[in-house]
Amino acid sequence: MVRGLLCFGGLVVAGLIAYSIGSKQPGGFDLASLFRPLPEVNESYQRGFRSDAIAHINRARTPLKIDEAEVDEEIQGFLHAFVEQHPRPEEIELDAVFNDLQAQFPGAQYLAANLVTSGSREELLGKLAGWTAVASPDFNTVNTAVFTHGRRLGALAVMARRIPAFSLKEVNERGGRFFNQCPHCGEVHALEVERESRTLILSCPYCELPFDVLAADTDGQIRRATDFFDGFKLLEHPQAKTQMTDEQRIMALWQRITDQCDYQLDQDHSEDREREVWKFSRQTWDEKAGDCEDTSILLADTLLSAGFDARVVIGWNGNIGQHAWVVVKAGDRQYVLESTLHDDITLDNLVIASQAAAFYQPEQLFDRENLYFTEADESDFRRDYFSPSLWKKLPVRADQRAPRLSLR
Ligand SMILES: [Zn+2]
Repeated sequence: MVRGLLCFGGLVVAGLIAYSIGSKQPGGFDLASLFRPLPEVNESYQRGFRSDAIAHINRARTPLKIDEAEVDEEIQGFLHAFVEQHPRPEEIELDAVFNDLQAQFPGAQYLAANLVTSGSREELLGKLAGWTAVASPDFNTVNTAVFTHGRRLGALAVMARRIPAFSLKEVNERGGRFFNQCPHCGEVHALEVERESRTLILSCPYCELPFDVLAADTDGQIRRATDFFDGFKLLEHPQAKTQMTDEQRIMALWQRITDQCDYQLDQDHSEDREREVWKFSRQTWDEKAGDCEDTSILLADTLLSAGFDARVVIGWNGNIGQHAWVVVKAGDRQYVLESTLHDDITLDNLVIASQAAAFYQPEQLFDRENLYFTEADESDFRRDYFSPSLWKKLPVRADQRAPRLSLR
C-alpha cells in the first residue's frame, strides 16, 4: 500500500440545505389586493400554478445551461399535506419542512425551501423565479403548494434532488452521490463515491466513525474489503496439527507465502499509475506478487483456512506510513505479521502485538466476514487486536455484496 492512498475520507457532502426567508419581510401596502377577489385555491389552481412556476423557473435556468427542473410527484404530495395540516401556513418554519421531508424521503439530501406571499399570482411567480436556488444545478425538481393568507396568496416551494441509497451495486453502475444511514449514530448523510475511486475508508460526518472500507479490484470493480478473501488454503504437513506448535505452523505457512510472492507496488505495473487496486488472495498467489494489502489478505486468508483467528489490519507504520499487515492469534498470544518480509521467517519475525505497539498503529481491521473499528484508547487497542470490547464488529450487509468474479 502506498503512503497516503488510504487517506481518502470519501468526499462527504453534507446535506445541502438552503433557506429563503427574505420574502417574509413585509412589503409595501398593496391597496389593489384589497379589492381583487382571491382565487379559489383548488386542485386545478394548484396544478396551473405549479406548471407556471416550473415554466418561470426553467426560463431562468436555460440561459445558465442548467437542466430543466420537473415535478417530484411524491414530494409534491408531501408538500400539499404539510400545508393543509398547518393552521397558519404563512408561519411555517422551513426547518420543520426539511426535517419532515427528510424523515420521509432520506434520499432528499439536496433541499431548498422558500415561503413567499404576495397580493398577486404574477408577483408570486416572479418571486419564485428570482429565488437563488433556481440557479443551482444541485436541484432538479421543483414543487409548490399555494395557500391563502388573509387577502394575500402564499406559496411554499421546495426544490430538491433525491439521491439513491449507498450500495456497491449503485457505486459500480454509476458512482456519484448517495445517502447513507450511519450504522453507529443513525444519522442520514450524503456521500460521494466515484467509479474511479481508489481505496476508500468511508466515515460518518456526524460521529466520525468509519462505516465501510472499499477498494477497487484489478478489473476496476469497487468491492468491500472483506470480499477480497476467497477461502485460499495451503495444504499443511499431515502431522502439522499434532507435531507442531501453533507458532511453527504459522511460520511455515507464512514462509511459503513469502517464498511465493514478490513485493510489487501497484504502480510498478499498472497503466494507470495513480490507481491503487487490491487483489483476491488466490490472485496474489497465482500472480506471485502483490503489495502490502494483497499479501496481507493472502496470508490472513491462509491462516483462517488453517483454523487460526487472523485479521488484516489497515493502519500506520512508524517507518513506512500507511500500511497493511496481519495479526494472528495462537492460544492467548497475538502476533503482528509483516506480510512484505522476504527473508527466511524466524522466531524473531514473530512479534508479539503489545511489543509492536509503538510501530504498528492499527486503524481498521477486517476478516472474511467483518470490518472492525475501535473507539478505545490507543494504548489499549494497539496491544490487543481481538478483544470484542476494544474492536467492535461492523457487520457486512448481505445485500451490499458485489457478485464475485471468476478468477480462474
Ligand atoms: Zn455516525
